[in-house]
Formats: sequence, structure tokens, C-alpha cells
Amino acid sequence: MQRAQEILEKTFGYDAFRFDQADIIKTLIDGGDVLALMPTGGGKSLTYQIPALVRKGCAIVVSPLIALMQDQVAALKQVGVKAAFLNSTLSQEQGFEVLQNLRDGKLDLLYIAPERLVNDYMLDQLRYADLSLFAIDEAHCVSQWGHDFRPEYRRLSVLHDHFPDVPRIAVTATADERTREEIIQQLALGQAKTFISSFDRPNIRYTITEGNGGRNALAKFIESEHQGDAGIVYCLSRKKVEETASWLSKQGHNALPYHAGLDPQVRQDAQERFLREDGIIICATIAFGMGIDKPDVRFVAHMNLPKSIESYYQETGRAGRDGLPANVWMSYGLQDVIQLRSWVEDSDAGEEHKRVQAHKLDALLGLCEQSDCRRIALLGYFGETLEEPCGNCDNCLSPPEMYDGTVDAQKLLSTVYRTGQMFGVGYLVDILKGKEDDRIKRNGHDQLKVFGMGDDKTNPQWSRIVRQLVAGGYVYADVESYGAIKLTDKCRPVLRGEQTLMLRIPVKAKLSPARKRKSNRPVFNLSETDKPLYDALKTLRTNLSKAGNVPPYVIFGDATLEELITFRPDTGDALLMITGIGETKRDRYGKMLLEVIAQHPKVEAAE
Ligand code: ADP
Ligand code: ZN
Repeated sequence: MQRAQEILEKTFGYDAFRFDQADIIKTLIDGGDVLALMPTGGGKSLTYQIPALVRKGCAIVVSPLIALMQDQVAALKQVGVKAAFLNSTLSQEQGFEVLQNLRDGKLDLLYIAPERLVNDYMLDQLRYADLSLFAIDEAHCVSQWGHDFRPEYRRLSVLHDHFPDVPRIAVTATADERTREEIIQQLALGQAKTFISSFDRPNIRYTITEGNGGRNALAKFIESEHQGDAGIVYCLSRKKVEETASWLSKQGHNALPYHAGLDPQVRQDAQERFLREDGIIICATIAFGMGIDKPDVRFVAHMNLPKSIESYYQETGRAGRDGLPANVWMSYGLQDVIQLRSWVEDSDAGEEHKRVQAHKLDALLGLCEQSDCRRIALLGYFGETLEEPCGNCDNCLSPPEMYDGTVDAQKLLSTVYRTGQMFGVGYLVDILKGKEDDRIKRNGHDQLKVFGMGDDKTNPQWSRIVRQLVAGGYVYADVESYGAIKLTDKCRPVLRGEQTLMLRIPVKAKLSPARKRKSNRPVFNLSETDKPLYDALKTLRTNLSKAGNVPPYVIFGDATLEELITFRPDTGDALLMITGIGETKRDRYGKMLLEVIAQHPKVEAAE
């Protein structure tokens, strides 16, 4: 383990192991098998990269995505590790050369796509090599239950049959029990030691606001918190992706659309720019993100409801992998609920599956409408307990005010009841508001006692009340009758006045979450005097990244940038104290970094 600690510091430039890293690394070094479940950004890669360097021989890493492999290998080369990959982007000669290096013991890590690894030729080649371990990245791909099943992954159990003495590690950020069991069974990991880290992502700030896809609210959010940052904006439809991207561009942001309907080349270019340039915003359907390993995504925005809490966790999890502060923000409306529910209804899936999906959507809506700590609820959904409110979600930071909403609820419920449970939210609210309307007159609903009884509230205020009633399970939007609001048994005690119902105060949503609070962004909290150095270091990073044809974060990440500015190291040794700078990076970039820092001496604030 002493050797492992040394590698952590000198090669990777970090001081301490995180979470279960140390225990996992020890198990592998001692020759044991491991199943490790860690959240995105938890630091899974180091858990096999360091044992690969400590143990004799070459480690074989199975990774499902070419882009991901290439980035990892580029990053390893940057810190002086002998790494290579084998995939379809290599010519035959290049492939032979890699295999030759493998046999000659010239590699520490070799990344291979799963379908390549399990063919007989490759397995034969491996027999001639000295192997330190097998790492199976994104191991949830063996699970048919999960979201990105890869049939090739199922054949990976042959590794155990052919190389019973080589330790194996399977890692994933998908934690549910069923997937875990499938991984153990499919990969023959019965003997493996299992490590499950907490899935909390404390650096992520959660904010969920209402409003139907408010572009202005999005712009405010980006301008107040994330000017110039890289981010992802998720939309439900391709059309909305395109609209949002072009609108943001007009507002002066670097926004690009990404969805399955675009030309593959256009999509590829967008992804490439997102990875390689600073400050690109991708507007995307959920088709975007899988396998995106960019550590410095500073925000993820949802313009609509995601499908489930699982999707929400996964999509928001793409923010802040580097551990620095990141914001996730959602704006949604009842229309999203109806839309998603009708997609579930209209799908070809079996009844059981539909029920599960509908249930998942309800759970998500509950998360959106609740008035206390989001993180407690989010982790609770995955079976984890958080003792204290987190202090880093919208509800913790500015607790919503509650009022006794029993009477309002009764007005709405009785409108539903008296109109025969056949109408959607818009119509019901029109009745409550006492709107002059032919359809209402024709139906005789202007004669109802409730007609005009809700005139004290605006339409959006009423919509908000309806959403809370839906989230609480008092009514539901019936997709089969075009989103008509219907009553459930649960509403009876409220209608009869036997139960009080606390609701959030239907004031207009506060637009800027950042106005009163401390902002949740990292580097930009710089003082004005630090800005020139920040800009100069970023320019250096961009130039080095272009010259080396690697993404900027592979040269050095935002955490390194921040420490360089804070500590202003002035010697090679001082550089080694900076997170992310090990000996190779010091030797390679040290001189340039020190020069830039020297050119920008700290200016003391004027008296
Ligand atoms: P995962 O694959 O679990 O999403 P990564 O392995 O990509 O996460 O690691 C996420 C980020 O955290 C990377 O930038 C990595 O270099 C950094 N990191 C990992 N372990 C440590 C550590 N012990 N100290 C500091 N940074 C770390
Ligand atoms: Zn909280």
C-alpha cells in the first residue's frame, strides 16, 4: 500500500484516497476480486489504475465506449503511464504493434472493447502476456434489467474461466440490487469483495422550479450562475432542443443542439466541441450523455421532467464529476406529467412494465413537489439515509412557506367532482376563475356553485395547487381521457373537511435562485485581481490542449486551476503540492505554468 500511496502522489498528484479507494486497491493488490459501486465522479478509474501500476504485468480494461477509452488513455499518457487501447479506430498495423508491446511487457494498461476481448484470437494473445488484472468498467452493461445492456458483456465470464488466477474488478455507478446481482452472477464474481459507496454527490446543488419550460428562467439561471461554463440542457422533444439551442445562441451563449434526428456528423461534431472547447452548452434529448466523461460540466438543466428519479439522478450526475461545486436546475409543468404518462400508456410494453413506469413517474413528481430537503428524498429513494437536511438544495436554502390549503383544495376537488371528472386543468381553472366562456356556458358549468369561487388566485397559482394535489395522490391526470383530472379515494377526507392539507404558498416563483444566496460556482468566485491570471492559465490550457490534441481537462482540471491561482506556486517543488500535478506534469508543463504565474504577481487590494 505504501507503493500505492506513492503513485497516488507522484504520478497522479493527489494527496489522499477517497471513499473506498484505498480498500479496493488493497484487495486487488493482494490478488482478490472486487465489485465496486461508486457514484459518478467517485474516482472509479484510480481503483484499477493504481493496482495496475503496483502489480506486475499489464492490466486489461474493458470499456464499452471508444471515446471514453481514448480520453482515459490520453489522460494516462499525460501523467507518464504506459497505456494503449485496441479498438476499431486503429489500423491493422497499429493493432499489431499494440499486441507486440503487450507481449513484450511494455504496457501497464490496455483498454479493449468487449467484443474484441472475447474473441478466440485475442484470448490467445493474452495468454502470451503477463497480466496484472482485469477491470470491467461500466459493469452494469451485463444487466438486461439496466438501461444500457450490451450483449457482448455477457461473454466476459470467459475471462474467469481462462485466467482464474488474474484478479478482476467490476465497477459501475448503477447501484440497484437487481443490477448488482446480475453483475455478480454473469461475471462469476461470487467470491468478489463488494464495496458500496454512498451515492450522495455533496457538491451538486439541487433546484427544482415550476413553470412550463421557461426559457427566460433558464437564461437567468445561466447568466447569474454560469456565464461561460460548460453545461447540458435537457429537453423532452427534438423540436424544443433545436429551439432552445438557437435561442440561447441568440442570447450570446455557445449553445449546440444534439438529438437522434440530427446528421451523425453534426452530432459527432457537437460532442467533440463540448469535450474539447471550454464553455460549450449542449441542448439535448436524453440521447446525449451516456459515456460522456467530461469532469468539468458545471451545470445540468432540465427544461422538462425526466422519466424517473433514476434518470434524474443519472442525468444530473453528469455535473461536477471533478468534485467542484455544480448546479442542477429543473423547470417543469403539469403538461410534462401528462406527456410522459401518455408515452408510457402508448408504448408497446406489457401492463406490468407500464405500471412500474407510471409508479416511477409518480415518485419523481413527489420529489419535485415536496417542500423539504431534496437530497434526503433522493437518497432515500435509493435506500440511503441522510440524517440531517443537506443545506445545499433549494428547499434547504430557502424553505418554501406553507399555508393551510384545505379550502383551496376543496374548491378544486369539488369542481372536478361536479363536472364529472372529464376535464383537464385549463378548463377546471377557468371555472374556478369564473371565465366568460362558450364551452362553459354550453355545459351549464357557469351555474355551478364553484363558478368564480377561485378568483382570488391567478391561473399559474391554481396550476401549482393542482400539481401539489397530483403529487400528493389526491387526484390524477388520466391519460386515457386526454389528461382529464380524476379523483382518488385519498381525496375524500379532504373533501369532507376531516383532513387539513398544507400547501406551498402559491406566490410567483422567485426567479433567480442565486439572488440572495452564495453562488454555487467554483472558479468564478475569483476576485477581480485574480481574473488576469485565470484567463492566462486558461489560454495556456487551451493552447496545450490544441497542440496535444486532447481535451483541456486532460491537461489540467478546474481544481488544479483554482489551486494554482490560490497558492501561486513559484517553484517546481511547490507545483507538486497542487492537486492534479504529479512529477510528469510538473516536468512537462511546470516551466510554462511558473512563467505565467510569475507574469501575474498578486496585486494587493488598494487601501
Ligand atoms: P468515475 O469514473 O467514478 O466517474 P473518475 O475516475 O473519472 O470518476 O474520477 C473523477 C475525478 O476525480 C477525476 O478527475 C479524477 O482524477 C479525480 N479523482 C479521483 N480520485 C481522486 C483522489 N483520491 N483525489 C483527488 N481527485 C481524485
Ligand atoms: Zn437539502
